[in-house]
Amino acid sequence: MDFISPLPLAPEDRSYQRELHQALLAELFHHTKVALLFLVLVMVFIWQLLGPLAENHPLFPWIYVGTAIIVLLRLFSIQLMEMWPRWLPEPGDRHLVFILGSTLVGLAFGTINWVMVPLLDPIQLALLGLILVGVNSVAVQSMTGSPLAFALYMLPNMGIFTMKSFLRPPIEHNSLFLALLIIFIVVLLIMSVRFHQSLRNSILQGLKLGDLALRDTLTGLRNRRFLQEFMETEVERTQRTWSVNYHGSALPSSSLALIMLDLDNFKSVNDSYGHEAGDEVLRQFSLILRDTVRKPDLVTRWGGEEFVVVAVDTFRTPQLTLAERIRQAVEAHPFRLPGGHTIRQTCSVGYAFFPFLEQDPEGMAWDQVLNLADGGLYIAKREGRNRVCGVLPGPALSDSPRALVAVGKDLMDPMRAGLVSLVRRNT
Ligand code: GH3
Ligand code: MG
Ligand code: MG
Repeated sequence: MDFISPLPLAPEDRSYQRELHQALLAELFHHTKVALLFLVLVMVFIWQLLGPLAENHPLFPWIYVGTAIIVLLRLFSIQLMEMWPRWLPEPGDRHLVFILGSTLVGLAFGTINWVMVPLLDPIQLALLGLILVGVNSVAVQSMTGSPLAFALYMLPNMGIFTMKSFLRPPIEHNSLFLALLIIFIVVLLIMSVRFHQSLRNSILQGLKLGDLALRDTLTGLRNRRFLQEFMETEVERTQRTWSVNYHGSALPSSSLALIMLDLDNFKSVNDSYGHEAGDEVLRQFSLILRDTVRKPDLVTRWGGEEFVVVAVDTFRTPQLTLAERIRQAVEAHPFRLPGGHTIRQTCSVGYAFFPFLEQDPEGMAWDQVLNLADGGLYIAKREGRNRVCGVLPGPALSDSPRALVAVGKDLMDPMRAGLVSLVRRNT
């Protein structure tokens, strides 16, 4: 549910929707908390102003205390949402709670105005009017994160004040007073949307810049830096399921499949058709990768014509079907080049699972496992390209689980020593 935006997001901005919503809510909550404290102070002034009239209206103290309780409850609910994000993890739900709070506060102040305005003398009325103008001017600033919440807060209290001021007997107010109040209300509503737009644009710009730094410009894929950040959380998550499992839980352990891919004889594409054509092949290759993996998997351009795919929550079957699926999809794809040529292109693939050794899930860091996948890729190249080579723990590894930590790209020696075993598919 996206309440927050008075305008729909442009298609290219939709991927930031959740982050944008969250950032707007963070602004909204922060500034509203400050404004609510100010409001509590204002309520003391209003009490000072209107309290003496309470004798004329026995319900007033209750309405007033009720309003104060609603204001405090709203403050409390915002604090709660900030302190325990898990209470309402969806930004849309948090926003809904906020909107409800704003509406209640607006209606409560509207009720005070409904009751009190007919009882006030002109000076008191003017003072109450000034207080309302001040409070709503602060509110429009503090609620830039949500014009809807602002409108639902402001309209009942200002609307009732305006109406009651105009209708109350004796009618001492000219239409200028009414016109000014209505103009104020309209201006506030316009300001609210304008403020919101500029806040939204600046947040969006920040998100895009941050995102750009984590993307490869040619293919739009995530880059190495993003992979680094992604793996920090994924490794922790994966290791947690493994440690839980080794303490006797029945949860299935999921692994990460680290897949390293490299285009075969790619230099010859550049040499024969030019660098532009090479770039186009890289772009189409990245689209194939994106289309082949599942949504939570990560595709990154590792550099040049090398790519890394991280498939999350993968079963440790020695034959990784995803790797083979990618290889086949690339082989089957006709790469159309800018000059009109269509060429065939293949890739070689190496993979390894993280954690590498089931008995020792923390024995090897993810980049060491990626290095083993790279070793698999190297073997796939050496054995003729356009093939997949998986690297799995060998029978001798359980005797010396840390023996692979410093191993290089060439896995022939570790293989002979039984530290790794290689899984090949397709020829
Ligand atoms: P192999 O099958 O052994 O991988 O052979 P290869 O020709 O693919 O490998 P090599 O490492 O010799 O060449 C990689 C080429 O990739 C060289 C470089 O010009 C090209 N390349 C790297 N980045 C880009 C890029 O962004 N655009 C283009 N067009 N070419 C690139
Ligand atoms: Mg290559
Ligand atoms: Mg290469």
